[in-house]
Amino acid sequence: MTAKIIDGTAIAQKVREEVKTKVAARAAAGKSQPALATVLVGERIDSRTYVSMKQKACAELGMISHHKPLPADVSQADLEKLIRELNADPQVNGILVQLPLPSHLDEERVLQLVSIEKDVDGFSPINLGRLAQRGREPLFVPCTPYGCIYLLKEAGVTIKGANAVVLGRSNIVGMPAALLLVKEDATVTIAHSRTKDISAVLRDADIVIAAVGRAQMVRGDWIKPGAAVIDVGINGVPVLDEKGNPVISEKTGKPKQKLVGDVNYDEAKEVAGFITPVPGGVGPMTIAMLMANTLRAAEIQGE
Ligand code: NDP
Repeated sequence: MTAKIIDGTAIAQKVREEVKTKVAARAAAGKSQPALATVLVGERIDSRTYVSMKQKACAELGMISHHKPLPADVSQADLEKLIRELNADPQVNGILVQLPLPSHLDEERVLQLVSIEKDVDGFSPINLGRLAQRGREPLFVPCTPYGCIYLLKEAGVTIKGANAVVLGRSNIVGMPAALLLVKEDATVTIAHSRTKDISAVLRDADIVIAAVGRAQMVRGDWIKPGAAVIDVGINGVPVLDEKGNPVISEKTGKPKQKLVGDVNYDEAKEVAGFITPVPGGVGPMTIAMLMANTLRAAEIQGE
């Protein structure tokens, strides 16, 4: 069997087009442009890149972004003051605090402070708690897990009644992905670094969401034939030549790197029914869902 490739780039583009159309319709009706505040503490290159991608997406979709950079040594009090100001600011619909924060800051307190109506990342303990409760709905769902479920649905995978295994139990990916699958009536197993015999657990899974951050850990023979495999992992690995030696970039003089997922794609695609590539799978969905959440925030706030 060769798996159907779930094209995250195309599906994310579709989501973005839908958001763009709705934002334009709001403008035509005299409503405000949805606005996202991006809070970036420090100068981490990866965080800066993610924030600038989010700002660019806002601009492309007709939304406003208010960038709020803070120095790496900002105090907890000053960061909390900014969050309170953004909570109170009617010009701001969504607040995104780029994680991770420097270690001297209390991330939990900061996320708790973000107003749940503006919590477009879905990381506030109230939104996450509602996700875990039966009969309750969060205002916002964390963007990456939301993107994973969206991809499964777009691909036509039946979630209801399926055996799903989520590899990883982080607050931002694994756990909310598992909770979302439960809400969609899957039977869910969460596997992590203390799980015995992960391959045996996976072999029973109709749906696999892999979010461990371990390059190509999931092998093809761990996958149940026909399963849907969503690979969240983003791991840099050296590019090797045919002899297995690292290829050196002429430009930088350093070993060339490429991105791979947590799943051994070449093996798994021969067994799975559906699979997401890396890059071009879950990655583009995260920002698309953030844009959808920011539009929703403006709608909830009646702006
Ligand atoms: P974390 O490091 O926070 O969590 C990793 C999880 O994987 C933990 O629950 C850990 O278990 C588990 N784990 C680690 N090693 C193993 C192992 N050998 N066997 C079984 N379980 C293991 O990572 P994140 O959830 O933040 O991210 C996971 C991956 O997803 C990363 O590659 C990250 O780059 C990527 N990512 C991609 C995004 C996207 O937009 N596509 C967005 C966010 C993340 P334990 O709890 O026991 O320690």
